[in-house]
Order: sequence, then structure tokens, then C-alpha cells
Amino acid sequence: MNLKKYYALMIVLSIVVPPGLLQAKVLDLKPIYTAGISEKTNRAMQKINTTYSDITELITIGKSAKEGTEIKAIRLGKGDKNILINSGHHGREALTTILALDQLDYLAEAYTNNETINGYSIRALLNTVSIWFVPLLNPDGAELAMSTLPSWKANGRGVDLNRNYPTLYATVKLSKAPSAEGYKGTAPFSETETQALRDLCYEKDFEAAIAYHSAGQVIYWWYHQTGEAYGKSAELAGILSQMTGYALVPPSQSTGGLGFTDWFIQEFDRPSFTVEIGKTVNQKPLKWGEYQEIWKKNKNVLLQLGAEMIKRNTHPWETTVNDQTIRGEMLFESGVVPVREVSQIMDLSYSYDVITKTVTISKADQTLVLTLNEKEALHNNEQVILPVPAYLANGTSYVPLQTVLDIFSDIQE
Ligand SMILES: [Zn+2]
Repeated sequence: MNLKKYYALMIVLSIVVPPGLLQAKVLDLKPIYTAGISEKTNRAMQKINTTYSDITELITIGKSAKEGTEIKAIRLGKGDKNILINSGHHGREALTTILALDQLDYLAEAYTNNETINGYSIRALLNTVSIWFVPLLNPDGAELAMSTLPSWKANGRGVDLNRNYPTLYATVKLSKAPSAEGYKGTAPFSETETQALRDLCYEKDFEAAIAYHSAGQVIYWWYHQTGEAYGKSAELAGILSQMTGYALVPPSQSTGGLGFTDWFIQEFDRPSFTVEIGKTVNQKPLKWGEYQEIWKKNKNVLLQLGAEMIKRNTHPWETTVNDQTIRGEMLFESGVVPVREVSQIMDLSYSYDVITKTVTISKADQTLVLTLNEKEALHNNEQVILPVPAYLANGTSYVPLQTVLDIFSDIQE
């Protein structure tokens, strides 16, 4: 390239990508989707955790039953509330693992670049709700399917992990011996893989869950929910169906009872969805060539689910401060109030800086600086963690009331 062309290119690049400003995705996914997938998946998660250490937490939730490979989970975001996505219950469905890793990479990048996608600030979202990813629940099964036994669905011990949950365990008859698919094991949760996911669910108290599978482009969402739980699940399922183009499986055809989603719905009375991503159903791993279309359909599923959980857990709320009524919102269990009104009632000064998007509240020698959509605030220049971020809605800044009360309610005039 001659010098003139070089400079011309540099000018174009500097306009399109300001140097050092934008994070790009860090994972190279195609080489993961082959033999060695379990080790490569864990390395990919490690890479994400190193790149985004301020917003991720990588943990080992158990080991696979046969080979003892570590099963890892990674949290993305700083929100106190959690949602779960798990992939790879079934060995031959490892393209779901690729999808989970891709979503993780995509959302971590979007957080870092402070992007707004589909009208949602990714920071506001992930500072309120964290997403837990379990990209590969069944490393041994995936390894078998990607190397020597492409139709292998079970774990390394021949137990079909999505038939190892307790919901209808006693009544459903399946094959009697370990095999490539359809053996439920000796007891519910007999396998270290399902134990690991069960324990994570109890520990993290997920608001909702998605289990990715790969046969048939449909969404399972129903397991005997009634009343309000039915309405909530049906509505969310409709949104996911619209986003992905996958058909909803009607309750009359949801006859599972041994799978993760059935168990989650029954145990926690919260929504869970089995999302089947594959167009072809031929008992073998999906072809890499199907992936781009799957990605397009699913890339925003998690952010939409997170946003829907926030929407459904935000309600009008009022309380009294200094004997005066103040109206705000209850966001999960945190009351947020308009900064203007709480400042008037508590005799505080406040200002809003449109450039830095910060709200500054002060009285006497106490100052609190909150940045919209961020979890951290500064109290007299020391960091405090907010229960939920401050945010702007309809031109009004809302701030978490408890933090304001903690700092300013005892000040003597
Ligand atoms: Zn499956």
C-alpha cells in the first residue's frame, strides 16, 4: 500500500472507530464448536472474565459425572436480581453453548460501550438484573457428540440430563439402562451436572430462566401454571416467540415433566422457557452454517427478558418522609423517588449535570453524587453501592430513597 492510500485508510478508520474508545467482541466461536469443546468453552469463559473483570464473576458450580470436567457459571452485570440462561443439557446440542457464549460476549461489549439496544440502556439493565450463564452443563456429552458419537445426547454416564429432574420422575417410564438418550438415571438429581444447576438455582434465586436446546424452533413455556403465573408466563412466551419467530408449544402438547424447565416452574413458581433453536432435527449436532440465522433470532432474547423482568417488577409506590407523602416507584424491593421532591421535603440542594449525567445532592458537609444508570455513587468522594441505579424517566430523575435517607436524614441544622 502506498503512503497516500495508507493515510486515506487511517482517516477513514479514525472516523469509523475512534481509537481506544470502543470495545469489540473478544471470542472466536467457530474453533470452539469441535472436539475439545468443553475445555475451549471454559477457556472462553475465562477470557471473558479477564477482559470484563469489573462486571463478571466466574465460578465453578460442579464437575461432570464421568470425566470430572469443571462446569462453570459466569455472572454478567452488577444487578442484585438474577436471571439464568443454561445451555448444553444435551450433548449433541452444543450449538446452544456457542449461542450462550456469543450472547455473553455481545452483552459484555455492549455494557462496556454503554450502548442502548432496542431502547434499553444495557448499563441500566445489567446494573439492575444480572444474567447468569451456564453455557455448557454437560461437557462430557458435548465432547462425545463433537468427537466420536454425533448423536450422543446423554451425559458421560449415559443419563439424559433433561430427564433427570424430579417433577414427574416417579411416573414417567423411559429406557431402563444408560444409553445415548432417554435414560432418566437411578433417581432425580442422580447426576452431578443436574445437582450443580439445581444448587445454583437455590443459591441465586433466579427471577426467570431460559434453557436452550436445539430441536425444532419452538418454545416450551407451560408446566401447569394457573392464574397470575399462567398469564405472566404466557405473555413473556409470546414476546420471546415474536422476537425469535419460534412457535409456542401449546399446554396440551407440553407433556414433559422430567426436564429443567418443568422443575424450575414448579419449584419456584416463576417463568422458565425451553427454547429450541434448530431448524433441522436429525439427531446430530447442528451444522455451523445454521448459526448466523440462529444468532440473529436470539441475540437480543436475554436483554429483552431482563428488561421484561424489570418492567414487571416496577410499580407505582408512595411513602412518607418527614410526614409528607412522596410518590415514586418500587423497583423490585427498592423504593425510588424523584430527586426534586425528596430534596424539597428534606431541605436538600440538588443539581443535574446533563453532560456527565450526574445528580448531585448536598446538605451541610454531606454530598452524594449519583450517575444515571450506574450502580456506584460517591458519598463525600467515597464509593457507595446503590441498591438500584438512579434513572431518568419522563424527564424526571429518580434516586433510591434509602440511600438518601441514610446519608441525609440525621443531619443537624
Ligand atoms: Zn435438548
